[in-house]
Amino acid sequence: MQIYNTISRKKEDFVPLNPPNVNMYVCGPTVYDYFHLGNARSFLMADVIRKYLEYKGYKVKFAMNLTDVDDKIIKKANEQNTDTKEITEKYTQAFFDDIKKLRIKKADIYPKATEHMAEITQLIEKLEEKNSAYNVDGNVFFNVSNFQEYGKLSGKKLDELESGARVEINKDKKNPLDFALWKKVKPDEPYWESKWGNGRPGWHIECSAMSQKHLGETIDIHAGGSDLIFPHHENEIAQSEGATGKPFVKYWIHFGFLNIRDEKMSKSLGNFFTTREVLKHYSAESIRHFFNQTHYAGPLNYSEDLLESAQRGLEKINNFVEEIKEGILRNKKDGITPEFDIDRYKFAFENAMDDDFNTPKATAVIFDFVRDANKTIGDKKNEINSEFYITLKNFLKSTADDVLTILSFDEKVIEESSSLQNNLIELLIKLRNEARQEKNFKLGDKIRDELNAMGVQLKDSKEGTSYKIVKVD
Ligand code: AMP
Ligand code: ZN
Repeated sequence: MQIYNTISRKKEDFVPLNPPNVNMYVCGPTVYDYFHLGNARSFLMADVIRKYLEYKGYKVKFAMNLTDVDDKIIKKANEQNTDTKEITEKYTQAFFDDIKKLRIKKADIYPKATEHMAEITQLIEKLEEKNSAYNVDGNVFFNVSNFQEYGKLSGKKLDELESGARVEINKDKKNPLDFALWKKVKPDEPYWESKWGNGRPGWHIECSAMSQKHLGETIDIHAGGSDLIFPHHENEIAQSEGATGKPFVKYWIHFGFLNIRDEKMSKSLGNFFTTREVLKHYSAESIRHFFNQTHYAGPLNYSEDLLESAQRGLEKINNFVEEIKEGILRNKKDGITPEFDIDRYKFAFENAMDDDFNTPKATAVIFDFVRDANKTIGDKKNEINSEFYITLKNFLKSTADDVLTILSFDEKVIEESSSLQNNLIELLIKLRNEARQEKNFKLGDKIRDELNAMGVQLKDSKEGTSYKIVKVD
């Protein structure tokens, strides 16, 4: 398996530090608003990579930080006359709700900056001891001139970086590229105590401190959008390696931008759609299919037409999933076994994904598989044995569902249902229980089975009968 490594600018064989374990850190959201579809691209591609590593048998420990102290959060809290905690709690919950709807697998850890002040200040102290940090009246800066390799990730020389980039002008800095590790408190800002006085951490140091705490001094994979290469990830390297003297990250992965008319989708430009809004009109699978059709590193232009066609493109696959499910239920074990080489598709899928997670190619393999399997089944769908359908299912489940997540074999719980609907279900449950009390088990079972066929599952327990409404995909 090969991964394109931003730092070496080439594809490298993937050899984890401590196989089968893989430690992966992805820069997560600043929780001051609903995240937009551009952010979603980064979160979704990270999810596909993680899921494919798990498919390959790696044990992935996955961390995604939540930036919950930041200028933008403070600004929003002041505008809304509230405190930052109220803002971050609201949008952290919204983040969890939305990634669940996108079918992103939960991280093992979501470290928050505000819960790691001890680790952050300790790391800054360590940098101070090594002359890599200096304090100017309660503001602490990283001393870039003490880290010879500064610029190695973005591949730029120091003078290029100085002239070109978004480096903050500040008269207290010795070098324009130096950056804040600790910011002295200002009025109306949240603060924490430290040996340099009250203040709050800079953004970059959070990720260095939290990744070290949860994943160790050297990690396998660090990922994020390509806007983070400089300065954020460049600075993370300087801080982490400056403090430990060890390599910080083995493989750097960066996601291309989701653009609108060739401009990066971003909050500040105002050219964004929240993922929450898009999810009202398009399924998670359609959104994911739209993203998977472009390699994660390349740019991708958003258009509603593309999303629309992603949704339509999946119809064929979804119909086939239905057919497989019916085939498994309907057919017997002793039917005919058609000639069909599933391994060929498995091999092609793995080949594509092993080549730097080539999801467009892997997706094409799934479509070929569906077309060819459909052709093989032809007009024999009632005569084929159920085991054959199960092998088709197993392939699609492990690839298109568990990795690409463009279809679903699992039933989905429908969360919202009308109160009339709920009342009717409860009435039927009551009638069923009365039938059972009268020992009319035939009627009781009939009610249960009919409800089940409609997607209402009953569960009997000591406390009584509960139900859940599921949609069988
Ligand atoms: P933020 O909440 O701005 O810190 O961003 C969260 C993640 O989304 C980071 O990994 C960013 O690099 C990424 N990101 C932001 N905008 C885009 C975009 N237009 N396309 C792809 N990724 C993005
Ligand atoms: Zn980060």
